[in-house]
Amino acid sequence: MKTSTFLAFFAQLAATQACLTEKERHGGHIIDLKAHSARGVINRRQANLGTVPVAVGDRFQNGTIAPRGIGNNPNSTFGSILNIGEIKSAVLGLAKQFGKDKVEYFEMPHKTYENRTMYGAKIGGSGKKGNRGYKVLLESGIHSRERGGPDHLIYFISDLVHAATEKKGLVYGGMSYSAAQVQLALSQGVVVIPVVNPDGLAFDQATDSCWRKNRNPARAIQGEPGSVGVDLNRNFAPVWNFTEAFAPGIDPSSDDPNTEIYHGTGPLSEPETKNVDWTLDQFPDLGWFLDLHSPATLVLYGWCHDSNQALDRSQSWQNKSFDGKRGVVPDKPGFEYKEFLEQKDWDALTLAAARVAGGMTDSTGRFYRAIQAPHLYPSSGCSADQGLFRAALDPKKKKVYGLGVEFGEWNEEAECLFYPTEEKHKLNLIESSTAFMELLLTAARLG
Ligand SMILES: [Zn+2]
Repeated sequence: MKTSTFLAFFAQLAATQACLTEKERHGGHIIDLKAHSARGVINRRQANLGTVPVAVGDRFQNGTIAPRGIGNNPNSTFGSILNIGEIKSAVLGLAKQFGKDKVEYFEMPHKTYENRTMYGAKIGGSGKKGNRGYKVLLESGIHSRERGGPDHLIYFISDLVHAATEKKGLVYGGMSYSAAQVQLALSQGVVVIPVVNPDGLAFDQATDSCWRKNRNPARAIQGEPGSVGVDLNRNFAPVWNFTEAFAPGIDPSSDDPNTEIYHGTGPLSEPETKNVDWTLDQFPDLGWFLDLHSPATLVLYGWCHDSNQALDRSQSWQNKSFDGKRGVVPDKPGFEYKEFLEQKDWDALTLAAARVAGGMTDSTGRFYRAIQAPHLYPSSGCSADQGLFRAALDPKKKKVYGLGVEFGEWNEEAECLFYPTEEKHKLNLIESSTAFMELLLTAARLG
């Protein structure tokens, strides 16, 4: 590598912040998609050599074989990323092997732009009827290039149901869970959405293009391949209208389709976010939510748009008189604003985030920090706040406490920094599995 290329490359790395590079956060792209597509398949693969390849075929044979995770078989290897078909096949395989009492597949009503049907599964639960008795919603794959997320979720639920059936415990690196803790975790009732962005995932896996958004072409610009799609993690309802709500000059999102953080044409304008909101409606006992992302070795909690405070109720996203002041961290004269959060809600979020980050650190020794999301950067329309937002508008709805887990670190060797090596993929899997387990046990502790 030439020195100048190396330095430019290194500058990009130093500026990587969680799901976005600094350049992307301010409207740019890290990959020139026109040049990328002109390079051809072989050269594209070459650029990401050393990363875990996406699998070909279906190791679960059309939903007839159930996957097994790493929790009771620490020597298992994970030499390929689950392709989009295999992820669904894995869920069907689990449903077939374990039956409705433990794993029940369901589909969602809003089809994606490429006409895919989104699905989820209900895992375990307290034995109540229908959709009652499910406390925790786990999702992955909202940002399609963050490879490994859906794999982690699939293998974790596999571990949970296998261990519960065999009355065994689970081990994730330095973290051990007893058979009783496994039963307790499963009894919380888990709803999973392994692929929140199936069109984006299919595209990223087919092209190795480091694709983040969905594939909605409605506002795409001719000749600009990066202008396709909406950033689904800016399309949820909380403080979606950032141009009104935020201080000038803050970029919590964008209304330019040719950016990685384009927020769509309205809150929940996309079928994918509608389906997540629909899922929250379907399961009225949900109280906890985890959205899996990479990479940053961080556990983030809301609110996403400004720092929290628990003293002044008037400083709320519902109060229009603070429009134009939000998102400035730290506050500056004329922009004094922090978002109100009930003390007990703040306590629950910080406890859960600290416990998840602590567990992840103890699993592999790689250090995870728990911070409030805007201390990384403020954002609008984030998934983690959707459950609190809904309860604020309708007191009959239960509050859902949301976390964003950013597993792993960027891959310095790959063109797409979000594609892990095999070694890191396994490390990430151990950490994410621990994160899920710690959240379930927090839910059991706090109700
Ligand atoms: Zn992400």
